[in-house]
Amino acid sequence: MVHFVGAGPGAPDLITLRGAERLKKADVVIYAGSLVNPVLLGLCSAQCRIFNSAEMTLEQVLSTMEQAEREQKQTVRLHTGDPCLYGAIQEQMDALKKRGIPYTLTPGVSSFCGAAAAVEGEYTLPGISQTVIITRMAGRTPVPERENIASLAEHGATMVIFLSASLLDGLQEALLQGAYTQQTPAALVYKATWPEEKVVRCPLGELAQAGRDHGISKTALVLVGDFLSGDYTRSRLYAPDFSTEFRRASE
Ligand code: SAH
Repeated sequence: MVHFVGAGPGAPDLITLRGAERLKKADVVIYAGSLVNPVLLGLCSAQCRIFNSAEMTLEQVLSTMEQAEREQKQTVRLHTGDPCLYGAIQEQMDALKKRGIPYTLTPGVSSFCGAAAAVEGEYTLPGISQTVIITRMAGRTPVPERENIASLAEHGATMVIFLSASLLDGLQEALLQGAYTQQTPAALVYKATWPEEKVVRCPLGELAQAGRDHGISKTALVLVGDFLSGDYTRSRLYAPDFSTEFRRASE
């Protein structure tokens, strides 16, 4: 059996209870060495064999899984954050299915949640934005043309941009072609939830310069939108005149 597990954004106590349990019972662990906090590997047993997928191809990952399966071992494939975002898990699941190897999925806390905590923010503020756009700049992995940043930015919604900290000049320019202005608040969140976490807030018009000034060019998320401005209308759900299934409105 292969268990895909989300490791969380960095802090080792942000893995789920289930994820930690899977790691403790694993005979083989293949972890995404570029981003998973290695402290988590301390949960593994002394006999556990540990592989760093940053140094492996998909074929090598699969043959390691196949070998473990032949020996009836439990394998954990440990991905950063939640595996469903930029985790390249679909190709692994499909290959396992083809080989008749069973697998499970354990979600994790994505870095976009860690980043919201770092800025003490709420992405979905009433009257400001009720939508979160998660995307990335095209890099060596292409992005479909209809999802280019400028067109997504037309909504003026909350945006969380992954994998783009080394492309801040182009990102800033594309975002400004949409509904945002030079003054729209933005933040760069480096290594959210790690001890070395850094939050840099700036107007969107200064994003690329802020990245240069603070030496941030990887392992960071870019947050953009008026949710960072401190302006909003209070929630309807908790308003005294709002009835719900659980609470009757007061007069
Ligand atoms: N599956 C992961 C994302 C993997 S893609 C998740 O759910 O978070 C790798 C990118 O995620 C990095 O380039 C960076 O943009 C972002 N990232 C991952 N961990 C991060 C962290 N702790 N703080 C800020 N950004 C992070």
